[in-house]
Amino acid sequence: MTTNTRRSSLGTSYVGTTRASTLRAAALVIAAVVSVSGCAGKDASPSGGSAPTEGLAAAGGEGVDIEGDAANPINKIVASAIADLQSYWADEFPTLYGGTYQPVTGGFFAVTPSSGDLPPCAASADEIAGNAFYCPSKDVVAWDVEGLLPDLRQRFGDFVIPVVLAHEWGHAIQARAKFEGRTVTREIQADCFAGAWAAHAQSGGDFKASPNDLDNALAGFLFLRDEPGTQASDPSAHGSGFDRVGSFQDGFDNGAKSCTGYKDGTPPVVEVPFGNAADEKRGGDAPYAQIVNGVPYDLEDYWSKLFPELTGKPWTPVKAIEPFDPKRAPKCGGSPTDDYVLFYCVPEDYIGWDNVDAMPDFYRKGGDFAVAALIATQYGLAGLSRLGDTSDPKISSLRADCFAGGWTASVLLGNRSKTSSFQISPGDLDEAISALLIFRGADDAARQGSGFTRVEAFRDGVVNGANACVAEQ
Ligand SMILES: [Zn+2]
Repeated sequence: MTTNTRRSSLGTSYVGTTRASTLRAAALVIAAVVSVSGCAGKDASPSGGSAPTEGLAAAGGEGVDIEGDAANPINKIVASAIADLQSYWADEFPTLYGGTYQPVTGGFFAVTPSSGDLPPCAASADEIAGNAFYCPSKDVVAWDVEGLLPDLRQRFGDFVIPVVLAHEWGHAIQARAKFEGRTVTREIQADCFAGAWAAHAQSGGDFKASPNDLDNALAGFLFLRDEPGTQASDPSAHGSGFDRVGSFQDGFDNGAKSCTGYKDGTPPVVEVPFGNAADEKRGGDAPYAQIVNGVPYDLEDYWSKLFPELTGKPWTPVKAIEPFDPKRAPKCGGSPTDDYVLFYCVPEDYIGWDNVDAMPDFYRKGGDFAVAALIATQYGLAGLSRLGDTSDPKISSLRADCFAGGWTASVLLGNRSKTSSFQISPGDLDEAISALLIFRGADDAARQGSGFTRVEAFRDGVVNGANACVAEQ
C-alpha cells in the first residue's frame, strides 16, 4: 500500500506513547478471566504451524504416460492427478456441456528446462521455466518439473500439484467447450474449475486432502505464473490473485456448473493500478514502520465512521496498541500472552503484536498488506466487542476477518478521502489472502476456522462491505 503526501507526517509517536501508558495501566488491572482473542498463534509461519502434508498422493496414475522421468516423485503425483482429472471430467463434462468428454491426448510433458528439451508449443526454455501450461493447438499439458513444481511442493505440500494441474485442465475444458473470453476471464474460469475439482478431491477421489492441505495448496496456487504470452510486468497479472481465489472458492462451494456462466465482466474483476511512481518503484510495499504506525490510525478513522453507521452510537477508540518484544510480552487480564504473536486483549482493550520477530517476518514474507490486514482483523475483534457480539470465538474471528475486508474496501474505494492517508497497491489484496491462509499457528484452524473460510469472510467484507460482517456465520 502507499500513503499520499497530504498526511505523510504520521509519526512513530503513536506507537511509542501508547505503549508506555499501556504498560502502566496493565499493572493496575485485575481481571479474573483471560480473554485473549488471538489471531496468529506462536510459530505461525508459511510452512511452520500449518505444515504442508507430504506423501498424500494416493495410488493411481496407472496408464498415464508422462514424457519425462516417470520415477520422479513429482511426476508420480502428476500422473495420479491426471488420472483423477480425466475421470472427473468424464463424469462432469456431459452434465455441463452435453456430449462426451474427449480425454487430453496430445501428451503430458515433464520438462527440465535446463536440458534444453522443449515441449510442443514452447518456443524457448524461458516459456516453460517456472510455469505449467495447457496448449490447445496440440492438446498438450506441460510443467516445469525442475523448478516450479518442486518449489511449490516444498513450500506448500503435495496437494498444490494436482490443484495446478486442475487449473490447466480447466483450459482443456475451455478448448472442448469452445469457450471465448479475455485472458483474465479464461484464467478465473480455469480457477473455478480447479476449485470444483478440489471439492471432489476432498470428498473422494484419489486425493484425500485435509482442510489444511487445501489452505496450503490455495496459497501456493497464488504463486502460479500466468500463461506464456502474458507480460510478467503487467500490473493486472499481479493484482488478480484476489479474483483467482474467489473463483476457486466459487467452484469449490458451488460446483463446476457455476463456472460455466463466466463471461467477460462476470464475475467482476478487481484491478488495482499503482497509485504513483514511487509506490511502483517500491513494488507496492510501504516501509514496515509506516504500516505498523499508520494502519492502526487509519483503522481508528474507519471505525469512527463505521460504528455510528452500524449502531447510531459514537466509536470508543481502542485504548492502546502494544507492539512488543516477545521476550517481554505483555499480560492480558493478568495472564501471560506467550502463546500469541498477535491478539486483541478484551479486558484491557488493547491490540498487541510481536514487533520484533513475527510481524517483521510476516512483512518480509507476505508484504506490507499482510501485516496491515492482520492488524485490521484485531480491530475487527475490538469492534465486535463494542458491538456486544456474543458469538463463539470462531464466528467472531470470521466476522473480524470480514471487517478487515470491509476496511480494505474502504481504502480501495478511497471513501474517506478527507481523513485516510492510505491507498491500496497492486498485490495488496493477494497479500491479505496469503496472510489469512498461511500465517497461522498449529491450532489456529480449530480456533478461527480454516484459512479457506477466513478468506471467504475477508472477501465477503471486501465485496459486500461491513454490513455483511455482522451476519457472518
Ligand atoms: Zn491458466
